[in-house]
Amino acid sequence: MKRSGAAAARAHILRGAHEPGELHRLLVDRVQDYAIFAIDPQGYILSWNAGAKRLKGYTADEAKGKHFSMFYLPEALEAGTPVRELETAISTGRSEDEGWRVRKDGSTFWASVLITALIDDQGQLLGFAKVTRDLTERRAAEVAVRHSEERIRLLIDSVTDHAIFMLDRTGHITTWNTGAQRIKGYTADEIVGRHFSTFYTEEDQADGKPARALGIAESTGRYEEEGWRVRKDGARFWANVLISPIREADGQVVGFAKVTRDLTERHAAQERALEDARHIAAQDAARAAAEQRAAEMQEMTERLHAQTTELARRSEEAEKANRAKSEFLAAMSHELRTPLNAIGGYTQLLQLGIGGPMSPEQTEHLERIQRSQRHLLGIINDILNFSRVEAGQVAYELGAVEANEVMEAVAPMVALQAEAKRITLEVAECSEPLVATADRAKVEQVLLNLLSNAVKFTPEDGQIELTCGRTDDHVWISVRDTGIGIPSEQLETIFAPFVQVGRSLASPKEGAGLGLAISRNLTRAMHGDLTLESREGIGSTFTITLPRAR
Ligand code: ADP
Repeated sequence: MKRSGAAAARAHILRGAHEPGELHRLLVDRVQDYAIFAIDPQGYILSWNAGAKRLKGYTADEAKGKHFSMFYLPEALEAGTPVRELETAISTGRSEDEGWRVRKDGSTFWASVLITALIDDQGQLLGFAKVTRDLTERRAAEVAVRHSEERIRLLIDSVTDHAIFMLDRTGHITTWNTGAQRIKGYTADEIVGRHFSTFYTEEDQADGKPARALGIAESTGRYEEEGWRVRKDGARFWANVLISPIREADGQVVGFAKVTRDLTERHAAQERALEDARHIAAQDAARAAAEQRAAEMQEMTERLHAQTTELARRSEEAEKANRAKSEFLAAMSHELRTPLNAIGGYTQLLQLGIGGPMSPEQTEHLERIQRSQRHLLGIINDILNFSRVEAGQVAYELGAVEANEVMEAVAPMVALQAEAKRITLEVAECSEPLVATADRAKVEQVLLNLLSNAVKFTPEDGQIELTCGRTDDHVWISVRDTGIGIPSEQLETIFAPFVQVGRSLASPKEGAGLGLAISRNLTRAMHGDLTLESREGIGSTFTITLPRAR
């Protein structure tokens, strides 16, 4: 039967290793990863294994007999390290050390060195066993980790706009960076060891928020929040907070990393932006409302303008029509007067008997013709007068007009007619000279019209009274009669042209119904007025008011 290679090697070793000492020698000799060698009590190398050769570069022949201090750097030699290590090994049994050692080629390696003092049963020092391992790679890795840790620490520390720090399991602060100091105001000395709830507001503390935050971070892997936090000086700031749990390999939470940002500015900016947005919205609404109102106003203005234009157009039309009417009346009455005057002239010729003698009957007829002619001429004159006043063709010569003088001048003109009806005509003496500013002839015309009416519409044995007076600004003259009066519903209409009480086409009264219309027009044109008080069956009082002269 053929045996496998490995089994053959095993058999060879077992065959060669007849005794334990031989086995140990082989073991030591063949180990490659450890330099294992013996030195005498003075430090000279006695033995040398394969690992030693591999590690230090010397063959056994080169190394044996040499002093072991040749593996140390000059600084270590100067500091007496090799001697001290042996002393330590002698006094304590062993000496352990890590440090730089030198190879044959002059290169260095990081060595872990264990020196064991070899003492026999009698307590005699036989030498030392030295086991050296090359930990250069492991050390490099450690250094790299340390460097990277250091870099991270420096990085974290250099961050100024984030507070980055660690908490232990219970929330006590263990590290502190520059940003934390800047944002929260505490130095590391002041805050490390204190509980992180210090940063919360009193309300949040009372509410148990800090503990809840850690609980959530632990159970969900993170806790993030924005809210008010408190600085060392008590001022509040708007913080964005992120808490992450830190776990061991077995998942056990050993602490927390906390990153806090100060968003006060951003928060304020957001609030401002929000406020601005609200403001703009309000302004927009107000503007829209204002525009709406403006549009309505504009529309109203346009409507008003259209109405005004329409009104102006109509009033102009009315004006035109009125002018045309006045012009017609003026032209017509003027044309009528010429033949009427001719009638008057020829009846007078007949009366004078120029065309031969007249019988009494003819004379009587002639008189009737004459009365009618005069009556008609009166009406025509009234119409002409009225149309002139209406058309504004009348000129006013304003001056001082004394009330009593006018009354004294006009009263006699109706005296005969009054006497014929046994009407008493009283003219009161004014208590003081009352002077109005007016056109005297026009005032007399108006007063004459009022007095004639009073006589006309007052039955026999009645009374007519002329009185005068003044207010601060006006002078007035009243004509009061005990006549038939005017029905209350006609007190105003009676001043309109062609209006007469009880007038109908079947029973035209004397006159044209123009006297009062003309009179009121004249007084008003002189900045005065003509008013009336009357009771049917009792009498009427017409009052002329004129501006008082100063
Ligand atoms: P006329 O006298 O030519 O008719 P007026 O304008 O002077 O025109 O008067 C209009 C009408 O007013 C008269 O017809 C009459 O009916 C009424 N009137 C005027 N004065 C008086 C008065 N003193 N008493 C009663 N009625 C009067």
